Amino acid sequence: MTEPIEHEVVVIRSGPAGYTAALYTARADLKPVVFGSAIFVGGALTTTTEVENFPGFPDGIQGPDLMNNMRAQAERFGAVMIDDDIVSVDLTGDIKELTDPEGTVHRAKTVIVATGSGYRKLGLPREDELSGRGVSWCATCDGFFFRGKDIVVVVGGDTALEEATFLSCFVASVTVVYRRDSLRASKVMQARAQVDPKISFAWNSEIAEIQGTDRVSGVVLRDTHTGETRNLAVEGLFIAIGHDPRTELFTGQLDLDPEGYLKVDAPSTCTNLPGVFAAGDVVDHTYRQAITAAASGCQAALDAERHLAALA
Ligand code: FAD
Repeated sequence: MTEPIEHEVVVIRSGPAGYTAALYTARADLKPVVFGSAIFVGGALTTTTEVENFPGFPDGIQGPDLMNNMRAQAERFGAVMIDDDIVSVDLTGDIKELTDPEGTVHRAKTVIVATGSGYRKLGLPREDELSGRGVSWCATCDGFFFRGKDIVVVVGGDTALEEATFLSCFVASVTVVYRRDSLRASKVMQARAQVDPKISFAWNSEIAEIQGTDRVSGVVLRDTHTGETRNLAVEGLFIAIGHDPRTELFTGQLDLDPEGYLKVDAPSTCTNLPGVFAAGDVVDHTYRQAITAAASGCQAALDAERHLAALA
């Protein structure tokens, strides 16, 4: 079934990048339509509690409140929110076709992709429940909350060592947990970690259990060779085992970089297909913050506006 209406702008998914793109295109009178999966409306920030680093909120703001505000602000100017996902796309033509789960095809002159990226999880029973209560995936976001505390950082590779050295500035101690017996991190990075009196390493180890009722109070470490376990009392568990950009919808149409992020013609948000723009964590390897996602959502909106103006 093909919907007769042709939209000027369709935004795929509803995090800070998508809502900001919607706000700007709505204020440009382009009547954007935002599709966001009903289960994950508002994106990654809805899974956290206090956000202290989004400018404009001197007392901090709860993640879900921030996202509800962004949504309401875009709606105020006419953005239409559809809490349903897009399940397939054909972005190759001048008119883009996007299909929802009921099979309705929505047609658009421009598409802004803001699907975000997922933090990889350990898959342990208490992990989601204690998210924002001692379990974190983002040192930049949450390091400040762990001042003077003992924490553990599970690393999945070399770059995660940066998270551990960053966190050591705030905390009392960092135990770095790694499944093997050494990391291949750059010599400089490794030397910095090894001389840091707050950092110690638990090699050949993995987290077997997260302990704590309302907040994290400890972890059980398991030796990956012997299977032996030991308890470690910590108030924080940082999981730094990588990210998965949500690009599965676009495979074969939009160019991806070797790590699976959408490629854009930086500093613009233009993808390889005319009329298709990408913003937020689905593009961003480096910063992965709400403010940077929102900023690139703004850029994508301005790029879409210019593209539409050139068509007129
Ligand atoms: P997202 O916010 O990821 O949104 C993209 C879309 O993906 C959403 O529409 C959502 O519906 C959809 N989606 C989300 N999860 C799934 C899923 N599993 N399957 C399918 N669809 C999904 N940044 C800060 O600046 N400050 C902080 O304090 C902060 N704290 C954070 C705490 C946590 C627990 C997490 C996970 C992230 C935190 N971040 C923080 C990072 C920030 O949330 C992201 O950088 C930002 O949300 C990226 O915006 P985005 O619009 O690109 O993507």
